[in-house]
Amino acid sequence: MTEAVIGVLPELVRNQIAAGEVVERPASVVKELVENALDAGAKRIQVELEEGGTALIRITDDGCGMVAEDLELAFEAHATSKLREVSDLDHIASLGFRGEALASIASVARCRLVSRPHDRDTGFSREVDGGQLGPIVECGAPVGTSIEVRDLFYNTPARRRFLKRPSTELARCTDVVQRAALANLGVGFTALHGGRRVVDVEPQMDLRERLRRIFGAELADALVPVHGLDGTTELTGLIAPPRFARRDTSRQMWFLNGRSLRDKVLIRAMKEGYRGFLDDHRQPVAFLNLSLDPGAVDVNVHPTKSEVRFREERRLFGFIVRTLRDGVGTMDVATPGESLLRTAERRCGWGPATLPDPGVLIPRSPQAPSDPSFSTPVVREVPGSSGAGAMPSESTDAPVDAWAARDELRGPYVQVDRTYILRGLPDGFEIIDQHALHERITFEGLKADLVRGAIEVQGMLVPELVELSRAEVQLLAGHVDTIAKLGLELSVFGETTIAIQGAPVRWKGSPESLVRSVLTALQERGEVGELVEFLEDVLHSAACRGSVMAGDALTEGEIQALLESGRQIASDQTCPHGRPTRVRFTLADLEKAFHRR
Ligand code: ADP
Ligand code: MG
Repeated sequence: MTEAVIGVLPELVRNQIAAGEVVERPASVVKELVENALDAGAKRIQVELEEGGTALIRITDDGCGMVAEDLELAFEAHATSKLREVSDLDHIASLGFRGEALASIASVARCRLVSRPHDRDTGFSREVDGGQLGPIVECGAPVGTSIEVRDLFYNTPARRRFLKRPSTELARCTDVVQRAALANLGVGFTALHGGRRVVDVEPQMDLRERLRRIFGAELADALVPVHGLDGTTELTGLIAPPRFARRDTSRQMWFLNGRSLRDKVLIRAMKEGYRGFLDDHRQPVAFLNLSLDPGAVDVNVHPTKSEVRFREERRLFGFIVRTLRDGVGTMDVATPGESLLRTAERRCGWGPATLPDPGVLIPRSPQAPSDPSFSTPVVREVPGSSGAGAMPSESTDAPVDAWAARDELRGPYVQVDRTYILRGLPDGFEIIDQHALHERITFEGLKADLVRGAIEVQGMLVPELVELSRAEVQLLAGHVDTIAKLGLELSVFGETTIAIQGAPVRWKGSPESLVRSVLTALQERGEVGELVEFLEDVLHSAACRGSVMAGDALTEGEIQALLESGRQIASDQTCPHGRPTRVRFTLADLEKAFHRR
């Protein structure tokens, strides 16, 4: 005979199952407890760890504390002080609200909580061991709350087996504390592992100082501030020049109203904001906080709350991209020689102390400027020797841009392998990739023309014919009208022939190579899509096949003209696809390379 089989799970089992969602590893415990401390208004939060958090996690805060009655309920599931009704979810401002964390954690570890509100003379403590609630005991305690979590997953061995080595678990815990420290200015954080300090951030430190502490001075000093405002939506933070980009998003931190999150929409917006300054497979480094009306976002999508849902996603996306572009456009993106040296040292155990043989040496122009600070840049070393009214600063660390405006872009130049141009600067030298620079100049020119709606076209007296495959002709035929907007006028001449009637005046390569680049871009994208993006891809493909300025020996005048056009455009330091157009070596770099420092 069939019997009834359904039963309600006991509370401990329910909490352990809930713990499966919220508490995956030590880092998730740290995250929940740090969030509780922040919700309690703490100004200082200390995290102590043993064995990567698997043996002990103790979090101590100086927040509002709890009274004895609260200790009655704190470990109950769905017990919270932060939410009363479902409608509260629409404008939730605290980090927690599900009332699940303490109950879940206490069901899979040995916990002890001590707490004292600032207006009480004594505190109370309570132990909970694998969900078994102990008595509430009065005790002496400092103001605030301290929660100890020992032997995580001791009673759920299957989960314990999934933990990684302590060093791995520690790294994840540290990441959680660092993110919290970056999201919560005004709050001090320390983390200790086996008594050793792994995070140390003072309450008064601003974002840049915190980043310097956590990631070092090189990155912190290179960061550029961004700020954007759209109604009540505000985006602020610091973004890094493209040379800091990484293969993963581990140094891309987004905070939403102070809550750290990983959201696909935001990651995509970031990529789009750096478009044209980064290779496709690299991720920007940035630390950004988005302030949104809590009603404009749903944070109750996932138990760990690291994913959210935005109500006006498209508008937000556009706003973020615009704000980032403004910042990206202003930064110094030239790869400094110093980091280049380090990469070279890592790769081959030796810095590029020897330069390749110069190809063509171009003699110095006869009308060299009389100001010695510029005509003999590299030897300008003795202060005062440069004559009156020279540089505003004699320091070798002076930013290159301080004199960029006075730069007359004159030689001497050295052209290496008909590809690279070497040029002296007052405090070092730079190497310019002539293809990359030319690509950028053509792109910016054509883009500006496009925006104005007028690309100047050079018509052909006799149309130039290009032989292609049938499929290629068909593909082009389907897009003749849109392609014409880029200044390339085509018509189908035969089943395997395309006739070129006109090409953009700015295009310096052969018209045929432009057609082939358009074709490659079309094949890769499948459609033209947004014109400016299409243009980027066309020029990229042109540069890859070396259609423009390929191996051209340039005269000094031509080099000067190239540099001059580069200066006319806003961002001449990377090609549209993010390769740098120039690399700079300062005196400091040289001193390092020659072990003088
Ligand atoms: P939630 O944070 O979602 O409310 P938790 O289980 O994390 O749920 O915490 C339950 C309750 O315990 C909180 O609502 C809060 O009132 C109290 N609490 C937890 N940690 C602290 C703390 N560090 N300081 C003060 N109160 C705390
Ligand atoms: Mg909580």
